[in-house]
Amino acid sequence: MHEIAINNVSYAYGSHEVLRDVTFTAEAGEFICLLGPSGCGKSTLLRLLAGLDLPTSGGITLDSTPITGPGLDRGVVFQDYSLFPWMTTGQNIVLALEQAFPGKKKSEYREIAQGYLEMVGLGSAVDKLPGQLSGGMRQRVAIARAFSINAPVLLMDEPFGALDAITRARLQDLLLTLWQQNAGERKTVFFVTHDVEEAILLASRVVVLGLNPGAIRGVFTVELPRPRVRQELYLKEPFLVLRDRLVTLLHENILSELEAGETVASVGEGI
Ligand code: ADP
Ligand code: MG
Repeated sequence: MHEIAINNVSYAYGSHEVLRDVTFTAEAGEFICLLGPSGCGKSTLLRLLAGLDLPTSGGITLDSTPITGPGLDRGVVFQDYSLFPWMTTGQNIVLALEQAFPGKKKSEYREIAQGYLEMVGLGSAVDKLPGQLSGGMRQRVAIARAFSINAPVLLMDEPFGALDAITRARLQDLLLTLWQQNAGERKTVFFVTHDVEEAILLASRVVVLGLNPGAIRGVFTVELPRPRVRQELYLKEPFLVLRDRLVTLLHENILSELEAGETVASVGEGI
């Protein structure tokens, strides 16, 4: 059981209301994609789920226990700055393991870290510094670290946003493969993206957030069987229908913002 319930959550930075009355429950083992235009509050919601900030009103629970701060029950992967640059990839993972599973021998931690690096195809990079790796490799290390602590919940904020299309596709496949292993113990995932196709490829359900304030505009179940093969998916009727609905919903939201006087630059940058 790793159910996450977001109950009437609102959040404001000072007088700037970002999220209003967000209510949503992710069942254990679901893969939820949060989709919405730039600035709608996706990262803010993820920070609340991570416990890095607390809601202005409302609350979030993990298996009925309120989230009041960061915890080892949630692995986190952000777009950048995920790894400590002065530590090797192995040391980065060992540090997380020491916090999650205290009391083991140094050599044991190193062995476990090595195993997780091998899982993401980076077994030979254990002694490399993050600065010696490509962006895609660094994100693979961040994924290995998030999985290494064996947290039941995974929170990812546009983790592949800065990568080229091919690396991005590879990491999407890697993430799905890891998530689909051990079907009985699937992690509950919240994955932020502003990419409609990425959301459909990955998600069990897509939650669309709108702008000003960030509120849920729609929740869509993705009725496509797994494993999902990218090339085949793009030809399937349910994929095309859902993509059309999501694109329309995002554009309606952005157009209504433009009519309300927003500048093109501020609402357009994420699309
Ligand atoms: P998204 O991730 O969907 O692009 P964010 O959650 O980062 O959106 O931001 C939502 C809104 O909150 C934006 O208008 C942004 O400018 C504002 N915001 C984000 N972080 C802060 C902060 N630390 N202080 C004040 N406003 C912020
Ligand atoms: Mg963001």
